[in-house]
Amino acid sequence: MTDTKMLIEIPDFVTVRDLAAAMDISPINVIKELMSNGIMANINQEIDFDTAAIVAEEMGYEVVSPETLAAEAEEEETEQLAWREVLAAENAADLSPRPPVVTMLGHVDHGKTSLLDVIRQTNVQSGEAGGITQHIGAYQAQREGKLITFLDTPGHEAFTAMRARGAQATDIAILVVAADDGVMPQTREAIAHAKAAHVPIIVALNKIDLATSNPPLVKQQLSEAGLVPDEWDGDTMVIPVSAKEKLGIDDLLEAILLVAEDLDPQANPKADPTGTVLEARKEKGRGIMVTLLVQNGTLKKGDTLLIGEHYGRIKVMYDFRGKIIKEAGPSTPVSVAGLNGIPEAGDQFKTAASEKAARKIIAEEAEAQRGQVSARSGPVSLDDFFSRLQEGDTKTLNLIVKADVQGSLEPITNSLEKLSNEEVSVEILHASTGNITESDVMLASASDAIIMGFNVEADAIAQAAASSEQVEINTYNIIYKLFEDVEKALKGLLAPVYEDVVIGRAEVRQVFRIRGAGNIAGCYMRTGEARRNAKARVIRGSSLLYTGPVSSLKHLQENVREVKAGFEFGVNVSGWNDYKPGDFIEFFMTQRVDR
Ligand code: GDP
Repeated sequence: MTDTKMLIEIPDFVTVRDLAAAMDISPINVIKELMSNGIMANINQEIDFDTAAIVAEEMGYEVVSPETLAAEAEEEETEQLAWREVLAAENAADLSPRPPVVTMLGHVDHGKTSLLDVIRQTNVQSGEAGGITQHIGAYQAQREGKLITFLDTPGHEAFTAMRARGAQATDIAILVVAADDGVMPQTREAIAHAKAAHVPIIVALNKIDLATSNPPLVKQQLSEAGLVPDEWDGDTMVIPVSAKEKLGIDDLLEAILLVAEDLDPQANPKADPTGTVLEARKEKGRGIMVTLLVQNGTLKKGDTLLIGEHYGRIKVMYDFRGKIIKEAGPSTPVSVAGLNGIPEAGDQFKTAASEKAARKIIAEEAEAQRGQVSARSGPVSLDDFFSRLQEGDTKTLNLIVKADVQGSLEPITNSLEKLSNEEVSVEILHASTGNITESDVMLASASDAIIMGFNVEADAIAQAAASSEQVEINTYNIIYKLFEDVEKALKGLLAPVYEDVVIGRAEVRQVFRIRGAGNIAGCYMRTGEARRNAKARVIRGSSLLYTGPVSSLKHLQENVREVKAGFEFGVNVSGWNDYKPGDFIEFFMTQRVDR
């Protein structure tokens, strides 16, 4: 049991009699307690708030002053006002509750799929004969007449990949932890991913049927990982379950409904339908089938869907049981046919008035994007963080920290967090040991974070993901350099790093004298390429003779922008005239590089 103290309200001055009454104890006991504190008082005597508080606390009460209560009430009211403002954007009268959307996260083999299956078997009302055979990426379970939508692709990779594409589909995360195995690296990762998404976490402590299960130990580990069980005065519900023995499933659903009640997810069924793509694939005989989670509005058969560059009228719509339906409201997963292409999980859908209107919108959006290339702020980097800060784009520098050993991780995260001040806060979304992985990169992408590594590297997949997601990775092997860079980034003191990158090498074969234009080197491009906007180094033997910009680049008398390996061409390097056959000309570009 918890030992939460009872709360009593005490004014600035209170008589011994009134204080005793407030605590529902005999005034004699209060007088005794006062005496043991060196205060002689009779029953009608007034004592001040501080004295009363000492006595009450001794007797197991927590005291508040009327001022504190008033301040708290005011704070609550301000919060509610803020909420009302947010909701006012929607027509409040049209908002109605919607089922919560739940995702299962956790370490591999801890039982995410098994739990999803058990809930599906036991709490889904099968519509058609034969029950549920469809797996469309989501389903809806029922408990006490209330619906819960489960996303069927477990794991934080899928969860975060969707977020990286802009989807906020999940309301509640179930963290599945096997009671015999405990908190594992991917459990910690899942916690970080859910927290970065600001999604509340319920722990399903699975496999309690096993003799080797050790719930108290796992609860200890969870506490250390920042999820303190509610029975230990924390605010994380930890529900013992067994997918194998079908134990605790109702408790788990109950817990979800409880958290959902608090969240009170709402949507407007009358709004234009919008939502997220959960899955999309081409099916034999059915064509392109797309599973959607309707998040707002009501999607109807015959609506024209618009998803990125794809569109199409909904020819047929199924619910998750495979039953044909005509319309679907908020939090409903549906599978639809009629789209003219395959979108990606996490893409957002909306609708258009007609296919013609859809084509027009797609063309307009493509056009708008073309003009916008440089207008967008782009991914966050240490170099430009300060300018974002100044423009009011952000106040938080989100970091993911990876280090080779725990012994360096802790001092790094501790010191980084201390760099926060009133103007800017450094938030560490995830810190763990080991090399930088794809999952780290996706978390960074989804949360606008930068990855800082100490004595670690990014594996090849992570590097590829970082370049396609445009996530900045900074690695160090000197700790103070890492701090220094973050510190400078916060103050806008980081100068961008430029580097000369060689793009090609050519050999000079002959020299042409052009009247009025000086000498031109007739070259053969050996490797890489030459570009008109590059710079060049003239090299003879092992000596660098000259460096300057390319002033002309010609192929067969024509001015060209570039020349590839294997071709002959003429080049003039501005400010140099003295080419000789056998010289090499190295072309390079100055590029801004990641630190
Ligand atoms: P996932 O990787 O998290 O989706 O885990 P799975 O659901 O695939 O389960 C991994 C393994 O654990 C499977 O062999 C399951 O049969 C087993 N398993 C799942 N839940 C339980 C449970 O409650 N008790 C026991 N004993 N085994 C379980």
